[in-house]
Parts: sequence; C-alpha cells; structure tokens
Amino acid sequence: MSRVRVRFAPSPTGPLHLGGVRTALYDYLFAKNQGGDFVLRIEDTDTARYVEGAEEYIMEALEWCGLIPDESPKIGGPYGPYKQSERRDIYDKYLLEILKTDYAYLAFDTPEELDEIRKEFEQTGEVFAYNYLTRNRLKNSLTLSEVEVLKLLHEKVPYVVRFKMPVDKTLNLEDMIRGKFSVNTNTLDDKVLVKNDGMPTYHFANIVDDHEMKISHVIRGEEWLPSLGLHYLLYEAMGWERPQFAHLSLILKPEGKGKLSKRDGDKFGFPVFPLNFKDPATGVVSKGYREEGYLPDAFINMVALLGWSPANDKEILSLDEMVKEFDLNKVHKAGARFSKEKAEWFNHEYLKTKSDEEILGMLKNTEGVDFQGMEDEKLIKIIGLMKERATFAKDIYNDGRFFFETPVVYDEKAVKKAWNPDTATILGELVSVLQASNFKAETLREEIHAFAEDRSLGMGKVMMPLRLSLVGELKGPDVPDILEILGKEESIMRINNAVKIIV
Ligand code: GLU
Repeated sequence: MSRVRVRFAPSPTGPLHLGGVRTALYDYLFAKNQGGDFVLRIEDTDTARYVEGAEEYIMEALEWCGLIPDESPKIGGPYGPYKQSERRDIYDKYLLEILKTDYAYLAFDTPEELDEIRKEFEQTGEVFAYNYLTRNRLKNSLTLSEVEVLKLLHEKVPYVVRFKMPVDKTLNLEDMIRGKFSVNTNTLDDKVLVKNDGMPTYHFANIVDDHEMKISHVIRGEEWLPSLGLHYLLYEAMGWERPQFAHLSLILKPEGKGKLSKRDGDKFGFPVFPLNFKDPATGVVSKGYREEGYLPDAFINMVALLGWSPANDKEILSLDEMVKEFDLNKVHKAGARFSKEKAEWFNHEYLKTKSDEEILGMLKNTEGVDFQGMEDEKLIKIIGLMKERATFAKDIYNDGRFFFETPVVYDEKAVKKAWNPDTATILGELVSVLQASNFKAETLREEIHAFAEDRSLGMGKVMMPLRLSLVGELKGPDVPDILEILGKEESIMRINNAVKIIV
C-alpha cells in the first residue's frame, strides 16, 4: 500500500472552530496511527471570503494543540506550495486537461442572465439549477457553435468552466465511517470548476491538490458529503486514482439538537474557538479555550472524544496514546453532543496531574495575577493545597486570594453562623497559644485540638471563627495549613482584626 498521507485543508474564512479542530485532530491521529504524514494546506481561492489573520490563527491554534504538520505553508515540503493561491499554474495546467474531456464546458451566462432565469423559475414555484435539464438552453459551449465560442473568447467575454454532470448515472460511493451509498447524478448540478477570474473553485482545486500531494485519505466534515459524488466524477474525468473518504458527523449543541454554531459560545457561555479571535472587521473578540485557562492537552482530549470512543471506554489519553488507539471504525456516525461540564472535567483532571511548580509557572503568566511578593516556596504550598479542588489554574489564585490579601470584610452569613458572644474571648485565649507555637501545621492541629478540649469547647466553636478571621468566609483548605502558610505574625494580626471588626 502506498504511504498514508492525510491533509487538513482549512479555508482562511475565519477562526478555526471546535469542529475544525476535531477534523484536524482526527486527520493527525489517523495519519500518525498509520505511520503516515499530516499535511496542512490552506485553501484560499475564495478571495471574497478571506479574513485577515485567519491563516495565522489556524497555524497558531494547531501549534497550541500540539498538532504539528509534517508539511505546511510555514515549513514547506516536497509537494508545495501549500497555499492554493500560490498554485495557480498547476490548476491552469489541469484545466486544459479537463477541457479536453467531455466533463467540462465553458459557460458565458452573465450573473444578471442567471438571476433572470432564477426569478422565472421562482414564479412557477421551482428552484433553478444549472444542470442536465437546463444547460441545453443556456449560453455555453454545449449550445453555441465553435465559431460563436471562439468569437466570445476573442472578445474576452467572461466565462466560467462548469462540470458536465453525466445524465442519469448511479454513483456508488463509499465512506469509511458511513459505509456504501449511492447517488443519482440527476440530483447533482453542474458546479463551477473555474471562476470568471480564472481562479479554481474549491472542488477543482481540492481534487487537483489531493492528487498532486498524493493524499491517500480525506477525512473532513460532514458538510462535504453532498460533494462526494462530484469529487468521484472529477477523479474519473482526470483518470486519477481517488483517495479514501471519511466524513465526520457534526458537533451538536449542548441540548443535543442542531449544529454547534460559532454564535453558541456567547449563548451558552463557553468558547467555540481554541484561541481568542479578534474579528478584523468588527473588532469583536470571541473567547478561546487557551485564554479561558484550558490546558492544551485537556482541550485536545476533550475534542477527541466528541465522536470517537477509544477501546475500554478510556477517557484520559495523551496525544501519543490517542495516536496508538485511534480507529476510524470507532468514530461515530451520529452527531456528538458538546458538554461544557465535560470540558471542565477534563481540565480538572489534567490540572491535577501537573506539578505545583508547573502550575506556579502558568499562574505567573496569567493576566491579573498578583501574588503580592509572596515567595515561591509558600506559593507552591498553596498550590499543593488548592489544586485538587480547582478546575482552572486561575481558580487556585481566585479561591486562594485570602493568602495574599488580608480580609477586610467578613461574609455576613458566615459571621452569623460562626460568631457568638463568647468568640472574642475564645480567640483572645487562642492567640496566647499561637504565640507560643512553632507554627507547623501538624503542631498547630494538635495545639488547637488540645485548646478546645481543655475548655470543653466543640471544635466548631474554635475552628469556624478562626477560619472566618483568616479567610473572611468559611471556605478554604484546612485551618492549620492556612495558619502555617500565613505565618505567626499575619495570622495573629488577622485574628485580632476580626475580633475588633466583628461585633
Ligand atoms: N477548504 C475546505 C473547508 O474549509 C476543505 C474541505 C475538505 O477537506 O475537502 O472546509
């Protein structure tokens, strides 16, 4: 068998969304599982839909996800260029070839003329298609004489090249995920292959490039399934061997109905893009997983499981493990429902596995984090105490703010619950005990226990107001751990403050 080569072929018409990331990921996993190549090709023939910055965004997003192509516009490769806008001469060459066959013709109809006909059709409740029924009465090289065609060409009248769909032919198609199915060519129209500016459309450029780049497997989104018949025929027309195809099902909204759209992120409060994206036209910034605090390995793991079940229902897999386990036979035919809770669960699981030092590094690089000069040794202890409960690294900072900032207000409900008329006296006496302590969490734990026992006080009567004084509310890790990190001076100062402020 020839070498497995899989391409990811995004169009730079906007930022990559979750569906695009999943396509890239499955392309990568399949290629690497088979010991093959993962190729990035930028499909930028549609200049009208080109979005400034989208191409850089796609490359940066793939890099963040760890999906490094073997060949791409950036790194090049033996089948370059990898940007369609730089491959015009290649398409021109194959255009001449397809024009020699019976599968393509020139069409001179102007947009206005086509609009007219479209309107006529609408009046009788029909939808116009440029196809086997209509092409014989339109202005094209099938209806015009050779002399007329040459005259139009000589006069430089704009034209497009259309595919001549065979009449009433059954196409037997095959998809690696969905199996075999057939399509009658009469349901397909005569797609434009080359536009009037000489630029190929997606369909033509795509198959030329897949052929030229020796692509063995095309794994792409379900939205391209209706084009499969045309693509089969284009390979036939050119006399080329075609790759194998697999079409991935949609990613669905959290409620399970309808495709997850680019706007759903705002609606449901989770990102649909891997990285933040600033729309160059509107300046509006859409949120990305990276900026929301997701770890790239957690993100990729979550995306992988949107539509693929690894063996033994394993859920946590590194990219290398995914490569080993990936199997298109286990990719689902049905749509995969996105879940924000699941995404967060993955991040929590991955965060737990990071070392305290790694998390500290991440936090130091996070906007808005200010440790108020606290030394790393203490910060590492704090991270160790807090990470089990955190979904994102930043939660450790947000939930542990009291470590860096002395409370000035106390949660009202907590005060009601924790503070009694005798609390001030109890804490006053406790301070004397703390003054004499070596302030190690273990010793403190014993000392506080002994203190409560000596006075026949329930632990709650001591621990709750103590926690409230230190934290400002009844949250956080174990009190002796908090005391040790805050240190004697700060802890006693906080207790005295609380006694003064809370009445
Ligand atoms: N440029 C197409 C897209 O962005 C690629 C489709 C394909 O993979 O064939 O969806």
